[in-house]
Amino acid sequence: MLADAPRHLAHQYFPSIFASTQTTMAAVARSLSTCIFCKIIKGEIPSFKLVETDLSFSFLDIGPLSKGHALIIPKDHAAKLHELPDEYLADVMPIAKKIATAQGLENYNILQNNGRIAHQVVDHVHFHVIPKPAASDEEGLVIGWPAKSDVVDEVKKYHQELLGKL
Ligand code: 5GP
Ligand code: ZN
Repeated sequence: MLADAPRHLAHQYFPSIFASTQTTMAAVARSLSTCIFCKIIKGEIPSFKLVETDLSFSFLDIGPLSKGHALIIPKDHAAKLHELPDEYLADVMPIAKKIATAQGLENYNILQNNGRIAHQVVDHVHFHVIPKPAASDEEGLVIGWPAKSDVVDEVKKYHQELLGKL
């Protein structure tokens, strides 16, 4: 039936497919003229491209923390993760897996920063794949982990509060 349907009438026969295709195309097209990562997707700024899909683009980081440090970005301009449609998020992790596997990584971090005080510098969602070749702080991600102790009551209270919002 799809083949028989005139193209301009496709939205009448298959409204949900038509709507979702339109949404995806609009999102892929949406970009900020000033955003460096949007420019990389469009090829206006060169990059060392790795994997590209309909929804994502990946390339080597120009300021790597270690050899093979890569970035995966959605082909939609959203500054922070919670602003990005789920379909873009779902596309990213298999690419991270592919990049890690291709490099034979045993030790690595997947990092995604949101907001300045959380170390986000480029306001276009991006996921880092950061190889950790050695235990030293010389290469790869160095993490501060200021874990609190004796806070079980606090955690329990917040758990109840949060469940009400999910
Ligand atoms: P953030 O701190 O925002 O999570 O990370 C931004 C990352 O983007 C940094 O690791 C930085 O090196 C990388 N980056 C910024 N501009 C460019 C660029 O023009 N090309 C490439 N390949 N990476 C970039
Ligand atoms: Zn952008």
